[in-house]
Amino acid sequence: MESIRIKTASKQYPVLIGKNAINELSDFITNEFSHLSKILIITDEKVAELHLQTVKKVLIKTGKPVLQHVVPEGEHAKTFDVFYECQSYALSQQLNRKSLIIALGGGAVGDLAGFVAATFMRGIPFIQVPTTLLAHDSAVGGKVAINHPLGKNMVGAFHQPEAVIYDLEFLHTLPLKELRSGFAEVVKHSLIADEEFYRWLRLNIVDLNNVKDEQFLTMITKGISIKASIVEKDEKETGIRAFLNFGHTLGHAIEGSMGYGNFTHGESILIGMVYALKLSKKKLDLNFNLNEFIDWVTSLGYRTTIPRQLEKEVLLHLMKTDKKSVHGGATFVLLSQLGTPLLMDMDDSALLEEMNELM
Ligand code: NAD
Ligand code: ZN
Repeated sequence: MESIRIKTASKQYPVLIGKNAINELSDFITNEFSHLSKILIITDEKVAELHLQTVKKVLIKTGKPVLQHVVPEGEHAKTFDVFYECQSYALSQQLNRKSLIIALGGGAVGDLAGFVAATFMRGIPFIQVPTTLLAHDSAVGGKVAINHPLGKNMVGAFHQPEAVIYDLEFLHTLPLKELRSGFAEVVKHSLIADEEFYRWLRLNIVDLNNVKDEQFLTMITKGISIKASIVEKDEKETGIRAFLNFGHTLGHAIEGSMGYGNFTHGESILIGMVYALKLSKKKLDLNFNLNEFIDWVTSLGYRTTIPRQLEKEVLLHLMKTDKKSVHGGATFVLLSQLGTPLLMDMDDSALLEEMNELM
């Protein structure tokens, strides 16, 4: 079992990662919440079928009433309607300011349940119980949100969890496509912060169908530590937290134009990372063996070129209107060295030219 303590300006909380980490949940709740009224688990249909009973069994030991509310899978969970239903359920079941929400699922459930917790009666505590690899990224950092038809994650809050309990057993049921999506964020964390970790990944992770528990433990612990060290310095995203968007400017544009849910987040940002690496080589002389990288990720099943049906001009427009864009142009996270990111405004011609090479 690994344990990391996250320290932000607003709060400190533990992250526990390991096989059967879920068994720690009841003691944590009993120790931390002396006047708890009720526990509400928010989870999605798929995760409910696979893992809800395990979690409920653990929660019995708290002796508190445990309620559950099951929402649709994926982005379908992050809608105003589902958000409203969660609030209605919580009110109808008389949850109050002494209640606790458990987010059991991937990033979508975590974002939704976290936003429900952030807003129910002006904010109640919640605990993240991630069940996807991608959630090593989303469960830490306190950003919670739902989507608006005009933009993903556009309605949300900063609300840190009380704890993150990451049981590696839950990952065993994750489909390959979802593993691949999450692994792209692991790769991102290595590239922006830790060259040695990147090398370890490239040498050790050669088949996503055969990742051992101790390898998951290493990649999740490292990934979360990297994210945490950035978030600790910049909780509300005014500066260096933007480095976490490495690969995301083009990635978001691809993900959005392919239709959310059709192309996973990780698949999209992986192409975005190849693009940002190419720009980094060109603009900043980044010393990096890109061909080796492309061979590796291709063997893991990623594509590394922009889907042909997408139009460059449309992608360019999307990149410039990305909410992370600072000056109206496209601001990119590039690397001057592996592990050393910086922000750079890019002009249209350079961006278009580089896209040509990636189509
Ligand atoms: P997800 O929660 O939609 O899960 C992906 C799919 O896997 C779903 O169909 C889900 O039912 C299924 N699933 C989950 N756990 C499973 C398991 N153990 N076994 C089998 N199936 C399982 O998606 P995700 O990829 O975890 O997260 C993506 C979301 O995270 C996006 O909405 C994105 O905006 C958000 N996100 C948030 C942050 C943040 O900082 N808040 C960061 C990154 C991503
Ligand atoms: Zn991401």
